[in-house]
This record gives sequence, structure tokens and C-alpha cells, in this order.
Amino acid sequence: MINSQTKIFAVIGQPVRHSLSPILHDWFIKKFKLNAAYAAFEVDAGNLEQAVNGLRSLGLGGFNVTIPHKESILQFVDDTSDSVALLGAANTLKNKDGFVKAFGTDPFGFVESLGEEAARFNGARVVVFGAGGSAKSIVYALGKLQVHYVCIVNRSRARAESLAGAALEKYGLHQVSVFDASKNILNDLVSEADILINTTSVGMHPLINESILPDSSAISKKHFVYDLVYNPGLTKFLADARLRGAKVQSGLDMLIFQGLESVRIWHGEHFEIGKDELKEIRKILKTELGINE
Ligand code: NDP
Repeated sequence: MINSQTKIFAVIGQPVRHSLSPILHDWFIKKFKLNAAYAAFEVDAGNLEQAVNGLRSLGLGGFNVTIPHKESILQFVDDTSDSVALLGAANTLKNKDGFVKAFGTDPFGFVESLGEEAARFNGARVVVFGAGGSAKSIVYALGKLQVHYVCIVNRSRARAESLAGAALEKYGLHQVSVFDASKNILNDLVSEADILINTTSVGMHPLINESILPDSSAISKKHFVYDLVYNPGLTKFLADARLRGAKVQSGLDMLIFQGLESVRIWHGEHFEIGKDELKEIRKILKTELGINE
């Protein structure tokens, strides 16, 4: 029930109409019995500073920040977490008495979503498809997971090179290489790797028949294959990999755990969700997305 003590949180972005964050955070609010409410605000770039000032002046608890403001929001905050300083982007703002600090929860969401599979990453060879905003978070997380080698495959080589530079200079990785997605060396890269991660939007609804790796013949049962895309639940990339015997995982749990990390930051408490609760929220989000696998 809302009362005069209720803390207000929201996602800001453009567009936010299809954001799953209000449903996810409403579930957290009920699950953890928080005196909080969560809304979605469509904010255009010209109003971003006013939105952050609104956060301060109204005493709201915080915002999640989504496309296209994850980078530009940083000019309006008072402080940033270490990961935000390294990544140059944030998805969570916390307001404490008018002081606004920016955090990035995607790398944490990715690592926590791995569960027992996280053990595979220590010393592993990883191919990352994509070099956009989410790829940065993933490559940063790969540094924390102490992988041995990262190979970045992207359509635009310049973007991949820039990410590789950051990985070597700032994310603690020692061996990073860059390849063009069009190169026929791709099958060799894949067969030499242990883990493949798609951070591109290729295969996302409605273009569900596309895969970032149209020829999956180099994938085998030794591989762990992760797709950040969560709609559809099983992308063509993952479906092909599963047919080849690989263990696969979609991005839905990452979405859930990056949201959970925001809640921990806002409320200063290490909330946890159990296996059954994870199943429950997955089901709610899949229903919302119209996924019925
Ligand atoms: P960006 O726009 O920052 O980056 C997009 C990336 O995809 C770039 O590397 C781009 O290549 C590549 N790409 C796009 N279209 C194509 C194509 N047709 N062929 C080859 N490469 C392509 O997006 P984000 O990194 O923010 O998001 C990417 C995906 O990750 C989205 O589907 C998003 O929903 C998902 N995501 C999931 C999260 C989760 O919690 N599960 C969290 C964050 C994102 P280029 O550089 O050449 O343009």
C-alpha cells in the first residue's frame, strides 16, 4: 500500500513503453516487502538534466536508465561507481539527500546469472560477438571472471578495436584479439573457444530466424553458449548450438539479476532470490513477452 513514506523509483528512457522494468521491480517490491513504488517515464535527451534534478528535488529513491541515456546521464550526476567510471555508462542512479550516484549493474547481472556455470570461465577462451554497450559490460565481467583469452567479433572493426583497447588497459584482460564477422576464420575461432557470447541484437524478435553465427558446424558439446537476447527465449543461435550438443543460456536471468542488483544498491541490503522465486519471475516476464516455451 502506498503511504507518505513510500519511496518512488522509475525507469527513464526513450522509448520505455515496452520496458519490462516496472513488472520486474514491482515483483521485487512485493517479494521483499519494500515500501516502494516503481514507474516508467519517457524522457527525451533535452530533459535529462531536469529529470535528474527532479530526482533530487522530489527526493525520489532512484532511477534505472535505459536507451538512449546510459552514457549522456553521467554529465548530470554527482558521483560514479568504479565500474561506471571504467565503462562510461550507467543504468542505475541512487539519490541520497540530493546527492546522485551512478552505478552499472549489467556486469553483476551477467555474472550472477551464470550460477554454477561461472566456474567454466576461469582460464577459458571466450568469443564475444558484438562491441556495443552490452559487450562492454560483458568484457568487463570477463576480466572479473579471469578468463584467459577474449576474441571480439564485430561488424564494425573500429568499435571492436576500441573495446579491445579498453579490455587490455582497463578491464584487467591480458589477451584480446579482434576479428571481422565476415572472415572465414570464424569456424577456427569457434572450435578453439570454450565459451561463445552473443551481445548483438541479431536474432531478437521479430527477426527470430537470424543468427550471429549462421554456420554453427564448429560448435560442439564442449561449448557453453550464452545469448544476451531474451526474446525469443531460445534464439536461433542458441537453438543451433543446443542441436550441436552445447549447453546454452538466454539473457533473461541477466535481466532479472541486473534488476536485483539495482534493488540492493537502492535499499542497501543484500536481497537474494531462491530457485523457485527465479522460476516464478521468469514465468511472469515470459508471459509478458508472449514467450510460451
Ligand atoms: P548496441 O546498439 O550498443 O550494440 C549493438 C551491437 O550489435 C553492435 O556490436 C552492432 O555491431 C551489433 N549489430 C547490430 N545489428 C547487427 C547486424 N545486423 N549484424 C551484425 N551485428 C549487428 O546495443 P546493446 O549492446 O545495448 O544491446 C545489444 C543486445 O543485447 C540487445 O538485443 C539487447 O536487448 C541485449 N541486452 C540484454 C541485456 C540483458 O540483461 N539480457 C542487457 C543489455 C542488452 P556494429 O558495432 O557493427 O554496429
